This record gives sequence, C-alpha cells and structure tokens, in this order.
Amino acid sequence: MDKKKNTLYGQCRFCLLNGHHKDIMKEYYVNGSREVYIDIFMECFNLYLSTNNILSTLICASCVQRLREANDFRTMVVNTEQQLLATLNEKDTVFINVGDLHGLEIKVEPQAVKLEPAENIIDCDYTSYEEADENGESIALRES
Ligand SMILES: [Zn+2]
Repeated sequence: MDKKKNTLYGQCRFCLLNGHHKDIMKEYYVNGSREVYIDIFMECFNLYLSTNNILSTLICASCVQRLREANDFRTMVVNTEQQLLATLNEKDTVFINVGDLHGLEIKVEPQAVKLEPAENIIDCDYTSYEEADENGESIALRES
C-alpha cells in the first residue's frame, strides 16, 4: 500500500504502460540515495523531454530499472575513459621529460638508445635559439 502513496495512476512516459507509476519530476530516495528520473534521463542520454501538461510525467518500475542500468553503464564508461586518459597523460609526461627518462629507463636498453638522437636534436634547437635571441630566455631553456 505504501507503493501507492508515492505513485500516480497513469501511462508510463517511456513505454506507455498503464499503472501506478512514479513521477519523473519528483525526488525519490532509494537505499538512501536521491533519484530524480528526469535528471538521470537527461544526463544519461542528453535528450530533452518536453514538459507539456498533457504529456505524462510518469515512469513505470521496469523503465526505472532500465534507466538505472543505462546510467550505471554510462558511469562505468565515463570512469573507464578517465582511467584511460590518465594513462595517456602519464605516457605523454614520460615522453616530454627526456631528462627524467634517462634515470627511469635504465633497465630498458632499446628505448634509452632510441632517445639519444632525439636529445641531440633538442640540443641543436636550443643552440639556434641562443644565436637568434640575445634575451635571458634562452639561458632559462638550457637549464631546464
Ligand atoms: Zn515504462
């Protein structure tokens, strides 16, 4: 009977099923966490639902479950993407910090050999900067 207090009779906005459904505009607390289905829906799918008075704002239990699963999947993908990007950034940092890499990559001989020509090219560039500029900037570059 408690279920009917939180629900309204009508048609599910998402699958058109008739019954006692929750309202997508209202707050619900499920296991202590707040759920507003319209917010979850729009954040998850980036779709806008029109809020015409004639249109139902109800969601059936089955669609709530599917929405949660979709949102869980989205959250997982976002987290995975962040992890992958973090890994990419770490690799980028290693490639940029040539000086640090010599210390870190002693064990991996082929990579250390590969890096030496790259360092020579950078040295050449700095030399040409020095010749072009007479500012203190080129000195700062050499030190780093
Ligand atoms: Zn439904």
